[in-house]
Amino acid sequence: MANTQLKPHAILFPLPYQGHINPFVNLAIKLASKGFTITFVHFEFVHRMLSESQHTNTNNEIDFFSEARNSGLDIRYTTIDDGFPLEFNRLNNFDEFWTSLLQDFPARVDEFIGKILQSEQSMVSFLIADTFFSWSPKIAKKYNIVNVSFFTQPALVYSIGYHLDILRENGHYPLKENVVEEINYIPGVKSINTKELMHYLKEGEVETLKHIVSKRAFQEGKNADFVLDNTVQELESETLDYLNKKQPIYAIGPISNFLTKIIVTKSFWSESDCTKWLESKPLNSVLYVSFGSLAQTNKHVIQEIAHGLLLSQVNFIWVVRENIVKSNGINILPDGFKDEIGDKGLIIPWCDQTLVLSNPAVGGFLTHCGWNSTIESILCSTPMICYPIEFDQPTNKKLVVEDWKIGTNLHDGDLIHRDEVAEKIRNLMTGTGSLGFKQEIEKLKNVLHKAIEKDGSSEKNFDKFVEDLKAKIY
Ligand code: UDP
Repeated sequence: MANTQLKPHAILFPLPYQGHINPFVNLAIKLASKGFTITFVHFEFVHRMLSESQHTNTNNEIDFFSEARNSGLDIRYTTIDDGFPLEFNRLNNFDEFWTSLLQDFPARVDEFIGKILQSEQSMVSFLIADTFFSWSPKIAKKYNIVNVSFFTQPALVYSIGYHLDILRENGHYPLKENVVEEINYIPGVKSINTKELMHYLKEGEVETLKHIVSKRAFQEGKNADFVLDNTVQELESETLDYLNKKQPIYAIGPISNFLTKIIVTKSFWSESDCTKWLESKPLNSVLYVSFGSLAQTNKHVIQEIAHGLLLSQVNFIWVVRENIVKSNGINILPDGFKDEIGDKGLIIPWCDQTLVLSNPAVGGFLTHCGWNSTIESILCSTPMICYPIEFDQPTNKKLVVEDWKIGTNLHDGDLIHRDEVAEKIRNLMTGTGSLGFKQEIEKLKNVLHKAIEKDGSSEKNFDKFVEDLKAKIY
């Protein structure tokens, strides 16, 4: 007999990367505000990075969700050890890290979840894990709890991953290097060029951990009871409608920082405050440049962008992350660059991106097309110049440039050239070329804002998800 008195309890397990943690934190707040108890799990090294970004002594146990609890939300916070020393550089040693996450780590998680469940026997629990934690459906099954897979990227990416078998049958997976063809056989996807498929599907990538991790995620993700997607029904309706025939998938986006007032520390690095500098600049005159938290490129690319920025003569803020190229610490900017830009440009290691994008002085975004950045740009009606580097970024760029027409793109990889960079920047910031983008992005912004209103599609999908979840567990 169903026991409707039991309180629902969600264990939330984000991937230990900025672009995954941000939507997970916002999801935690949203679920808690619907009456759920949340146990939020960070990796210990993430806890340490977050603590350091706050200039806090890591020996102190900081509870990043204390403000949420003060607001009456039942969010508990805990950490898990991944078995590596805290100082181990998990980004530069991606393969070693992920080999362990696939092989040894699941047993740790299994034990960890078992302990949480033992201590929460008066609650009905379920596991909401990032789709890229491919082991989570199996662990949930073992404990007889519902598994929710949270996909933090667009439905288009999920759909391509879901249909790898069809791509293989058609000779497009693994993806041959020089083949440029239009694909129109993926159900729910009208058309996509081979160049726009995810980077890790390329022939030269199939032996890499990035490919193996993603392939497993899409395979095992099919076994999840529910899929949440940080997208919006109106943006990707055909793709979502088709996927929904296969698996319950709920478009609940945008799950963005903009939408929660509660402060939870999320940034891996200390945020530079750009507000004063931005206040000194005219409306829409500043280009914001950032390649997210993970993507790594090379010195040549950085130098072409630097010269392109100078040639364009446009104001800019550029996030040059300490690990933007693999060999940290070397001087990657052109000699004398900082002197030459004077007050026209600000180079910073990290910032509160949503705060910068929403400043009226910012009028354009040169981006790697990470999905969060794309959504945040739309929410601020900031047209984009796209320079995708890896993972899902080429696919997200297709949505921005081809489908929604809210941005333009640069030549890929090392083909990037300073003259093109300067020309595209000038067109976006000062020419008439961006007028069409601005009109289209304004429309999309309204769609996104409507989706999260009380009667909006994402809000309704979220309520339906909660209802379906409860029906399954009680
Ligand atoms: N971000 C930030 N400050 C920065 C650069 C990025 O707060 O200086 C945030 C950004 O707002 C976004 C996330 O980091 O929410 C990056 O996620 P995205 O999916 O765009 O890219 P990823 O880092 O996963 O490649």
